This record gives sequence, structure tokens and C-alpha cells, in this order.
Amino acid sequence: MVKHPAIKQVFQQAKDGMLWAGNIIPTQTNPGKTIRNVTPIDNTRIGDIEVGTKADVDAAVNAARLDFEAGTWSKRAPAERKKIMLAWVDLLQEHAEELAALDCIDAGKPISECVNTDIPATISTIAWYAEAIDKCYGKLAPTDDKACGIICKEAIGVVGVVLPWNFPAQMFAWKVAPALACGNSVIVKPSELSSLSAFKMVTLAHQAGIPEAALSLVTGLGEEVGATIGLHPDIDMVSFTGSSEVGRLFLHYSANSNLKEIVLECGGKSPQIVFEDAPLDDIINDVLAAAFWNMGENCSCGSRLLVQASVKDQLLNKLIARLQVDWQPGLPTDPKVKIGALIEQAHFEKVCSFLSSAPEEGAKLIYGGKVYSDIGSGWYIEPTIFDEVKPDMRLFQEEVFGPVLAVTSFDTEEQALALANDSQYGLAASLYTLDIKRAHRIARGLRAGTVSINGFSEGDITTPFGGYKLSGFGGRDKGLEAFDQYQQTKTIWTVY
Ligand code: NAD
Repeated sequence: MVKHPAIKQVFQQAKDGMLWAGNIIPTQTNPGKTIRNVTPIDNTRIGDIEVGTKADVDAAVNAARLDFEAGTWSKRAPAERKKIMLAWVDLLQEHAEELAALDCIDAGKPISECVNTDIPATISTIAWYAEAIDKCYGKLAPTDDKACGIICKEAIGVVGVVLPWNFPAQMFAWKVAPALACGNSVIVKPSELSSLSAFKMVTLAHQAGIPEAALSLVTGLGEEVGATIGLHPDIDMVSFTGSSEVGRLFLHYSANSNLKEIVLECGGKSPQIVFEDAPLDDIINDVLAAAFWNMGENCSCGSRLLVQASVKDQLLNKLIARLQVDWQPGLPTDPKVKIGALIEQAHFEKVCSFLSSAPEEGAKLIYGGKVYSDIGSGWYIEPTIFDEVKPDMRLFQEEVFGPVLAVTSFDTEEQALALANDSQYGLAASLYTLDIKRAHRIARGLRAGTVSINGFSEGDITTPFGGYKLSGFGGRDKGLEAFDQYQQTKTIWTVY
């Protein structure tokens, strides 16, 4: 069980209703109206979250605009913003275990992942953008000697950030860090299912010296807070991560308001392609992590395994043998557990619907399928593999966002590529082969924003991340490319 004192303390405080005063995240001007915050670990209440209203968003936008125009944050030199953001990084570092515990409790994520992956990546993302911003230059146009054309970037203004629940702290950092580094005023709406770490991180940002009006949090429901952000006439840009259905709404919101810039990072149905020359023993961990990491609640989840028919049985036997040893669901507060709880009952039921529809459509259950009621009173599903999945089946086409892997076999390289691209999504893909020419041919042919070869990866903070087709729109998170979301391009033309 968890030994670290800071983590133990947060778990105990959540149990005792003591996370914050009254256990209510106090962000709104709307005291009294709250929603229950329930942990998916055992389905018990760990506090309440204030439900923001249109008035709360209006107040945050008004303050953000005034602050942006006043230049309290926006007109500081990039090196000064860097310094303040790095002070924030120091505070985040001091509170790292606490943040890890908050994401574990709030989203049912394994504590070992939160401690070793999510929170270190969150903190290093913020540090990376802080460090990068004072090293970015504008451009000089190749004009004749009668004019000088300066092409420069400037902050876009007031930015709305709307977040999902699956990587609460990390998704916050991917967007808030570059937006703030560029000098924008940022209003964050976390998912109503996972607001705790965002609240803590914003609190620490203010302690570090980032003005309250330049970074504010409005918690609450998508239909009210999210929609108000999308439709707001004085927000210049919205960066959204979540489902493609809701992402699409933001394009309508923009069209129906002020044509604000919209960047969408949405869902996926990513293929993993295994060719017969792949070293099967070496790739098992990556294939399983792609499919089941974070309970499959991962946008880049490699939920479609496309395997060359000649090695299919061999690969599946190896996957199953490893699953039995390493991937048993358990309480996410236990550091040995890799598969924690799904986020909530409604999502659990959606994932279960695939467990019943797949065999009805003709897929063959070869591992898992069990739903646990004896772990906590939370929402636990065993990692599950269906073989003989066909492209016209729901399991092949729809994002499950749970621990369910669809296996389809192929004979030729052409078939593999056609199957991989037979999707309305295009977020990520991975492929396994020792033939370097084939690897690059396939990588070039895949309609996906990130392709990893001989490993499961989304790249790192230096590389852009985002999707083709229904998986994304308008820009990229991560890498220096993320700055493009949050800046306008200006030309200054001087006539000599
Ligand atoms: P979601 O679309 O249900 O919610 C995302 C956010 O939108 C939440 O803050 C929610 O409150 C808000 N929202 C909901 N309804 C709204 C409405 N009508 N108007 C405005 N805002 C609204 O997504 P989710 O269930 O929180 O997250 C899971 C999805 O996120 C999956 O599809 C996953 O693939 C995707 N995701 C993508 C990436 C990526 O980088 N591409 C990363 C993580 C998650």
C-alpha cells in the first residue's frame, strides 16, 4: 500500500471530507450550488464542486481582458514570464505527491502512474514552455531594399481552455503552459469529473506570482460553463481536448459568436500494426501498454491490433500470458496496480455495451470480459481482447475509451495499411517491423498525427501531438507548434 506520507494524507483527507475547507472547490461567485465529487475508486463522495454559471465565466473573461490590456502579464518580457513560471514549477515540484494523489482519487488512475508519469510530465511540460518562450524569434521578410517586412508573433488575447478527465493534470499543462508563456490571459474549465488537480495547480500559480486575472479556473458543467466559453464574444481562442462530438460543438459556438480560433484535440481509434518479422517477445509490453494503459482511457489508445496472419496466434498467446501476470485490475491506490477504476458509472456502462455488442456482431472473446464488483464499489473492467473483428463492426470503428482490444488479421502490407486507415479517426498509430523501408513506407501512408515505429509512444514534449480527420482540428499540442495556437501573426511593413 502507499507509503509516501503526502499521498497517504491526501487519501485520508479525501475520506474525511477535509481536502479543502468544506471540501468544496471555492472558485465561483455562486456559493451554494454544487455537484457531488465522487471518486470512481469506491464510488463514495470526496467533496463537492461549485457549479459555475454564465455569470462566473463573464466575470473571469472581464477580468482576463482588463488584465490583458493592462499588460500585467501580457506585456512582461518573456524572460520575466519564464522566471515566474519557473517559480510555479518549483511549487508544483514541492506538491508533486499531493497532485498525484488528487488525480488518482479523482479519476481512478493508478497511483504509480500518477507519481511516476503524469505529474512529472505535467511539471516538466510547464518548465519546457517557460524555458522556450524567451528563445523564440520573429522573421524578416525577403523584401527588396525599399521596404522592411517584420513578421512577428503576439499573444492572441483571452484564451479559453476546456479539458477532459483522463489525464487531468497533464492535459492542463499541455495547454495552459504554452498559452500563459505566450502572454495570454487564460480561463480554464476542467472536466466536472476531475477538477481537483487543476484547482491545486491554479492556486500554486497564483502563489508563484501569475496574476489571478491572467489564470482563472471556472469549474462546472460543459453545457453551461463550456458552452459559455465557446460562445463568449470576448474570448479570442478556445483550445479544447475531449470527444469529437463535443469538439464539433465548439466549431458551431465559434461560428455562432465571434469566429474565435478553435483548436480541437479529440478522440481516436488508433491501429497497432504487427508484421511477421517483428521480434514478438520484445514488443509485448508496448502492445499491451498501447491497448490498456490508463484503463484504455487514453486518446491515443492502440485499440485496434492489426496483426499479420502468420504470427497472429503466437502473438495473442504471448499477450495473454503477460496479461495474466501483470495486468489484473485492482485498487488504484495500490502502487502495484496497473489497471484502476473507470471514471464513472455512465462511462463504465458504455464500455460494457461493447463487451456485449462485439460477440453479437461476430467477434470472438479470447481474453477477459470480466466486470469486477469485489474490488471496491467502483467501476472495474478486466483487460479484454476480441479476435476476428471486422471493419464493419462497432468495435473496429468506435472509440471505446476502455480496456477493450480489437484484433484483426491481414496478409499483405497493402491490406495492413488499408485496414489501419479505415477509420474516421486519425490521432496516432504504431507499427512493428524490422524492415526499415517498410516501416517508413507505412508511416508515410498512415493518416495519423503521430506514428511510432517499434514502440508505443506519443513522442515527448519536443514533438507536436494532434490528429487527422475527426481526431483534431486547427492546431497541435506539445512541441514549439503549440505556441502557434496561442499567438497571432502580425506583419509590420516599413517603407524606406
Ligand atoms: P467530453 O467531450 O465529454 O468533455 C470534454 C470537456 O468538454 C469537459 O470539460 C466537458 O465538461 C466539456 N463539455 C461537455 N459537454 C459540453 C458542451 N455541450 N459544450 C461545451 N463543453 C462541453 O470528453 P471527456 O469524456 O471528458 O474526455 C474523453 C475524450 O477526450 C475522448 O474522446 C478522448 O479520446 C479525448 N481526449 C483527446 C486527447 C487528445 O490529445 N487528442 C487527450 C485526452 C482525451
